[in-house]
Amino acid sequence: MRSKLIEFRNVSFRYGEEQPWVLKDCSFEIYENEWVAIIGHNGSGKSTIAKLMNGLLFPQRGEIFIDQKPVTPDTIWEVRKDVGMVFQNPDNQFVGTTVQDDVAFGMENRGFTRTEMLTRLEEVLAAVGMPAYRQTEPHRLSGGQKQRVAIASVLAVSPQVIILDEATAMLDPKGRQRIMQTIKDVQHSKDITLLTITHDLHEIVQADRVIVMNDGQLWDEGLPREVFSKKDGLKEIGLDTPFISSLAEELKLAGISLTQEPLN
Ligand code: ADP
Repeated sequence: MRSKLIEFRNVSFRYGEEQPWVLKDCSFEIYENEWVAIIGHNGSGKSTIAKLMNGLLFPQRGEIFIDQKPVTPDTIWEVRKDVGMVFQNPDNQFVGTTVQDDVAFGMENRGFTRTEMLTRLEEVLAAVGMPAYRQTEPHRLSGGQKQRVAIASVLAVSPQVIILDEATAMLDPKGRQRIMQTIKDVQHSKDITLLTITHDLHEIVQADRVIVMNDGQLWDEGLPREVFSKKDGLKEIGLDTPFISSLAEELKLAGISLTQEPLN
C-alpha cells in the first residue's frame, strides 16, 4: 500500500483576522514518491499551500501532517529537513557568498562530512548545468542561473519532499526540460515526493496526479487525462482558452488520449 507523506486535514487559512479566507476547508493527501502538480488561476491559493507545507505559515483551522508529524511551530525545524522548497523569486533564497558556499550550507546543517559535501556539490552543480560557477557570487548570476543554483541546493540534501513553486518559470523551455529531467531522475533514484506549482503544460501533463485549486478550494484532482477531459469546467474556474488549447496539443504530444471529447 502507498504510504501517505503529506496530509492536509480541513485546512483553512487567512493572512489576518480582517482578511478573507484564502484556503477554505482544504483536505488532500500526497503519497510517497508521487509527483503532484498543483494548478489553478492566480490567487487560487497554490503558493499559500506550499508555504503551509514547510511551516512558513500555519493554518488557523485544520491540521497538516508531513510524514505523520504535525506541522507546528515546535516541529518546523524537523519538518524543514524533510521538505525542500524553491520559490519563483530566486533573490530571496541565497545564504552563501559564492555558489559553492550556498549549495554547501544545507549540507553543513545536516552534518554531511567534508568528502560527502564535495562529491555532492560536484554532482548537483553538474546536474543543473552550473559546474563552472562554483566561485561565482550568486548576485552576479542571471535569473535562470540563480534558479538552477537554488534547485541544486535543494537536490544536494535529498529531502523527502521537494516543492517547486513556479521555480522553473525563469528558464527557457529547453533549460526547463533539462532541469525537470534532472529532478525526475533524482526523484526516482532517491524516492523523493515532488510537488510542482506551475503553468508549464509540458510539466503538468507528465505529473502522476493533478490537483486543481479554485478560489481557495480543491476543485478537482486526478490523473492529468481525467482532469483535463472536463474542458468547460476548466474554463469556468478561469483557466483561459489559450491555456486549454495549448494543453490539448501537449496532451497529444504526450500520447495521452482523453476519456471524454477532446479539448479545443
Ligand atoms: P496563487 O499561488 O494561486 O497565485 P496565493 O496563495 O499566492 O495564490 O494567494 C492566495 C490569495 O492570498 C490571493 O488572494 C493573494 O492576494 C492573497 N495573499 C497572498 N499572500 C498574501 C499576503 N502576504 N498578505 C495578504 N494576502 C496575501
